[in-house]
Amino acid sequence: MSIGSAAKTGEKRTGGNLPLPFRETETERQLREERDRFEFATEAANVGYWFCNLPFGKLAWDRRVKEHFWLPADADVDIDLFYSRLHPDDRERTRRAIAASIENHTTYDVEYRTVSEGGELKWIRAVGRTAYAADGTPLRFDGLTRDVTDLKMAQEARNRAEEALIRSEKLAVVGRLAASISHEINNPLESVVNLLYLIAATTTDETVRTYTRTAQEELARVSHIVTHTLRFNRQAPSSARESLARIIESTAAIYEARLRHAGIRFTVECGDAVGGLNFGLELRQVFANLLGNAFDASDRDGVILLRARSQRNWRNAAAGVRVTVADNGCGMDPRIRPSLFEPFFTTKGAKGTGLGLWVSREILGRHGGAIRVRSCQGSGRSGTVFSVWLPAPAE
Ligand code: ADP
Ligand code: MG
Repeated sequence: MSIGSAAKTGEKRTGGNLPLPFRETETERQLREERDRFEFATEAANVGYWFCNLPFGKLAWDRRVKEHFWLPADADVDIDLFYSRLHPDDRERTRRAIAASIENHTTYDVEYRTVSEGGELKWIRAVGRTAYAADGTPLRFDGLTRDVTDLKMAQEARNRAEEALIRSEKLAVVGRLAASISHEINNPLESVVNLLYLIAATTTDETVRTYTRTAQEELARVSHIVTHTLRFNRQAPSSARESLARIIESTAAIYEARLRHAGIRFTVECGDAVGGLNFGLELRQVFANLLGNAFDASDRDGVILLRARSQRNWRNAAAGVRVTVADNGCGMDPRIRPSLFEPFFTTKGAKGTGLGLWVSREILGRHGGAIRVRSCQGSGRSGTVFSVWLPAPAE
C-alpha cells in the first residue's frame, strides 16, 4: 500500500506495526479525528460542505453538495458548472451575495434553486464565509449547503392557505353585506307586491290592470334578484365533518411561523375538544381573526394561548366547548368595548377592516354559538381574552 492511498482511504489509520515513515504522527492523528468528527456532524445534520480557493476556479464539493446540484459523486466541479446549475432567476442574486460576502467580510447566506438536466428543482440554502490573509487578501471561500425543499413547500402551502382564508373572509364580508341589503329590501318589496295584488284585484279599469300586470312582472324580477343573487353568500353546510381540534390546528399552523418570527410565544392546547362540526370554513375565519387581532395587539416577547376545552354554556348550561384566545398584549380601552362588534369599527386605521369581530359574531350566532371578551389595560397586567362557545354537535 502506498502512502498516498493510505492517506486517501484512511485505511490502517493507527499504523502501529508499520515502519516509522508510515506511522501516523500525533498531529496527523488529531487532524484525522477532527475530520471524522466533522464528517459525522455534516452527515448527521444532512448538510453538504464545499471549499474552494480564491479567485474561483475548481471547487471541492462533497457527495451531498453534488446531490444538491443533481451531480454524480465523481463529478468534477468548477464555478461555471455551479452557476449553470442554478435557476436562471437566482444566478445574479447569488453572484451578488458571494461578492458582497467576500468584500464585506460578512457571512454568505442565500437560498437558491438548483435545476437538474430534466428540469427538476431543489431549494438549497447555502451558508459560507471567507478566509483572509493577514493583509486582507481573500484566500478561501468555504461553507455548507442544505436541502430546504420540503421546508419551502410547507411554507408555500401555508401562504396559499392564508391567502385562501383572506379571500374567503372578503367574500364572506361582501356576501353578508349583500344579505343584509336583501333583508332590508325584502320587507318593502313584499308590501309593494301585496299592494299591486290588491290594485289588480279591485280595479275594473283595463288600462290600470295592464299597467299593474307589467309592474308585477318587473317586481317579480326584483324579487328574483334579491333572493337568488344577493343571498348567494350563505355557506352551505359541508357534508364533511371535522373535529374542532383539526380546525383549530390548521388555523394555528397558518400563524405559527409569523408569530415565531415576531418573537411571540404561541401555545395551542386542544384537550377534549369536540368533533363532527360541519362549518369548518367559517370557524377557521373566526379563529383566524381572533389570532390576527391577538398578534396585532402583541409586542415582541408576547404570549398567545389558544385553548379548547369542553365546557357548559355560561348562560344556559348547554353542553359544548369553549375556545379561548388569550394574549398579554396592549388590552383595550373600556370605552371601545361597546363598539367592538359593530361593522367597520377598528382602531387600526387603514390597516384594519373592522369587520372581523362583526362577521365572527354573526357566524357564531347562526350556529348556536356565542363570543365574549374580557380585557385589561395597565402596566404588567394588560391583555385580552376572547372566549368562543360552541354547542356540542348532535350525535
Ligand atoms: P380589525 O382587526 O380589522 O380592526 P376586528 O373586528 O377584528 O377588526 O377588531 C376590532 C377592534 O377590536 C380592533 O381594531 C381592536 O381595537 C380591538 N381588538 C380586537 N382584538 C383585540 C385584542 N386581542 N387586543 C386588543 N384589541 C383588540
Ligand atoms: Mg381583526
